[in-house]
Amino acid sequence: CGVFGVVGVDNAASVVALGLHALQHRGQEAGGIVTHEFGQGFSSARRFGYVRDNFTDAETMATLPGPIGIGHVRYSTAGSKGATQIRDVQPFFGEFSMGGAAIAHNGNITNALALRKELVDRGSIFQSSSDSECIIHLMARSMGRKIPDRMEEALRKVEGAFSVVAMTRTKLIGCRDPLGVRPLVLGQLGDGWVLASETCALDIINATFIREIEPGEMVVATGKGVESHFPFRPAKSRFCIFEHVYFSRPDSILGGRSVYETRENIGRELAKEAPVDADMVCPVPDSGTPAAIGFSLESGIPYAMGIIRNQYMGRTFIEPTESIRNMGVRLKLNVNRALVKGKRIILVDDSVVRGTTSRKIKEMILEAGAAEVHFRIASPPTKWPCFYGVDTPQRDKLLAANMTEEEMRDHLGVNSLKFISIDGLYRAVGEARGRDQASPQYCDACFSGEYPVKPSDMLDQGFEM
Ligand code: 5GP
Ligand code: SF4
Ligand code: MG
Repeated sequence: CGVFGVVGVDNAASVVALGLHALQHRGQEAGGIVTHEFGQGFSSARRFGYVRDNFTDAETMATLPGPIGIGHVRYSTAGSKGATQIRDVQPFFGEFSMGGAAIAHNGNITNALALRKELVDRGSIFQSSSDSECIIHLMARSMGRKIPDRMEEALRKVEGAFSVVAMTRTKLIGCRDPLGVRPLVLGQLGDGWVLASETCALDIINATFIREIEPGEMVVATGKGVESHFPFRPAKSRFCIFEHVYFSRPDSILGGRSVYETRENIGRELAKEAPVDADMVCPVPDSGTPAAIGFSLESGIPYAMGIIRNQYMGRTFIEPTESIRNMGVRLKLNVNRALVKGKRIILVDDSVVRGTTSRKIKEMILEAGAAEVHFRIASPPTKWPCFYGVDTPQRDKLLAANMTEEEMRDHLGVNSLKFISIDGLYRAVGEARGRDQASPQYCDACFSGEYPVKPSDMLDQGFEM
């Protein structure tokens, strides 16, 4: 998901809408905006679909007045899937004795089911099926005198990954979990302050990037400035390495690093680790593009657009049901026949998850007359589900959890298949010595099976680590 908030500007809602539009790649199912204006109270609009279709008309925007607002773009990883229900669309809102607050959450709460049960047993009335709603109920039960105190207390009971943007009538609040699994950045816009999942959302509104919110940090921004504190027990940061590989936009800066450059580095590493004689390097667009460019630069094999993407489709993997995903490949990607005919092609993609997309692409490219197809993958084999906010499927659906690399190569029907090594990936994100086995620098659980936060709910449901 993507989260965004702003305080201290004219017409916050239009700024939030632009920010969310820049974060649309993080969630395409639905979006919502909450604002506050003195005299008119809180306003909210939550809709299915794209930001550009829901939050651009003057009529809707006029219902969201005020100088402070937050927003969320949703991609379901917990709660209702597929047919998302409008009640699961964020921001969520709560009315407390000292006033109202709205929250938008990116990540996944790993003890949400246990918390929900406890809260429901004690009388909380949940409105949604979302894990994120726990935060509101925990805030309602807190005895804290101010809303940020309540949020702090609530978040201390929550386990898992969270980058939260929240607002009261006058305060914009941002918080990252102690491991900082999901991103969150702070920007400045005139006299106002901005919080966003990624820096690309600051660029679109021409805000100045100030810094990242630190893992475990909570910031409270008002017209007067930004206060910061660290409410959790300190921990070593474990940022999601898959944000660098796939999830974030290539024009964002994460941990001081350009996502684009990292992806190009991954391609270079791949070319070193798994060279192959071929005629051209083609990306599976768009997620494989920077890595394909890196592979081409390192290998000297020309880069070409052997597959053309229809720009009017969304991201395949963010479409939540299997049937839509299956349809999606042909709707979204087409082989550039004239280019690939008779050629030995290196296809570079970010990941192989279920293998359905990869298989279809290979079929299409062979149908178009390619002589050979060599797959090079910009992440290690995805063997484990993510419980921290990326929708990887259960292990039985993960190709790499059920097959060796040779079996996967045969299943996909390609001439060769190679994944970047875990150390190669760490080198590409700037860790010259690779992965620190004793104390990994990133979360890489979907590749390594080492979960930095115990996935309690899943363990309760019989998941075996
Ligand atoms: P697959 O071949 O595994 O079906 O799909 C791989 C391609 O689709 C990659 O380009 C990746 O961007 C995307 N993809 C499809 N499904 C998923 C998923 O569940 N999780 C992730 N991370 N990527 C996926
Ligand atoms: Fe990121 Fe994978 Fe960790 Fe999920 S399991 S947070 S996708 S690195
Ligand atoms: Mg892709």
